[in-house]
Amino acid sequence: MKKHNFSAGPSILAGEVIENTAKAVSDLNGIGLSVMEISHRGKDFQAIMDETVALFKELLDIPDGYQVLFLGGGASMQFCMLPYNLLNKKAAYLETGVWAKKAIKEAQFFGEVDVIASSKDKNFSYIPSNYNIPKDADYFHITTNNTIYGTEIKEDIDSPVPLIADMSSDVFSRPVDVSKYGMIYGGAQKNLGPAGVTFVIIREDLLGKAERPIPTMLNYQTHVDSGSMFNTPPCLPIYTCMETLRWLKKLGGVKKMQELNEAKARLLYDEIDRNELFVGTAAKEDRSLMNICFVMNEQYKELEQEFLTYASSLGMVGLKGHRSVGGFRASTYNALPVESVKALVEAMQEFEKKFKK
Ligand SMILES: *Cc1c(COP(=O)(O)O)cnc(C)c1O
Repeated sequence: MKKHNFSAGPSILAGEVIENTAKAVSDLNGIGLSVMEISHRGKDFQAIMDETVALFKELLDIPDGYQVLFLGGGASMQFCMLPYNLLNKKAAYLETGVWAKKAIKEAQFFGEVDVIASSKDKNFSYIPSNYNIPKDADYFHITTNNTIYGTEIKEDIDSPVPLIADMSSDVFSRPVDVSKYGMIYGGAQKNLGPAGVTFVIIREDLLGKAERPIPTMLNYQTHVDSGSMFNTPPCLPIYTCMETLRWLKKLGGVKKMQELNEAKARLLYDEIDRNELFVGTAAKEDRSLMNICFVMNEQYKELEQEFLTYASSLGMVGLKGHRSVGGFRASTYNALPVESVKALVEAMQEFEKKFKK
């Protein structure tokens, strides 16, 4: 039986995406070859690359003047590639969790980093709202969804300098006004596909701004000039991303995804707030629609492992919270069906009946 997969990443993919990928791994479109054994420069793979880029542009409504790239190295590579290309003097960063901290650390190799606000005083359980973005910064970097803490920036911020967003764990979960961003990037393995490919959406006027020499592979211009084929791209992960985007389009696109994600999150947050045994860890107004973090209420703390064991006996996996938060984390990415959330809510209710003091 298929498990209820609440894993934070790599995470659940739609059933038909996995099936179609399995077919293409055996035989791509009946050509008698696996998608894994064809040249990335042949017409069959070029068609996959072109369709994936086109679906990115269509589904995120990306305006003219932006490039969509597929690279290796994960979102973590972007933590250094971004400042290598765009930080000449100073960059502003919002510190909202471990991923933001890692991005800040890499930027510090290249210039002055102004951390204009942080939520580390409360273990990153909220999104800071009082800050000024310096007008002399080369860019302003945010992490829209903080996968570990379950907080999310759900609006597109107005920034006087190019806004750069790590959207690893919430891309395609809602409509985004791409025109407000200089660059959006992320690893595929949360909401898009398997690990191994990283997407970068970059505004063309940000290219060629670096005042330092950049190694060829780390220069965005290289990948723009070669259509993400300077070297061999991660062909199979790109194929699966294409299948996910076909699936997402068929379902009704990002607006529809947002509705489904809001409905799933509401079900679970309502239960967390109602059920005496559990308590949410993120500030209510900043709660993520993708990673829902909660713990056992003080007087029930000793039941945490027992709840995980109970949920696991019902086929639920990936619910253990990140070690820096503890408790539970239910990742409710696009591909997670509402039935899985309902099953979790029922489990919480059953648990309450059994253990409420
Ligand atoms: C998972 C994650 C990363 C790290 O991605 P890698 O592809 O493993 O480098 C970075 N940022 C966010 C927000 C993430 O959730």
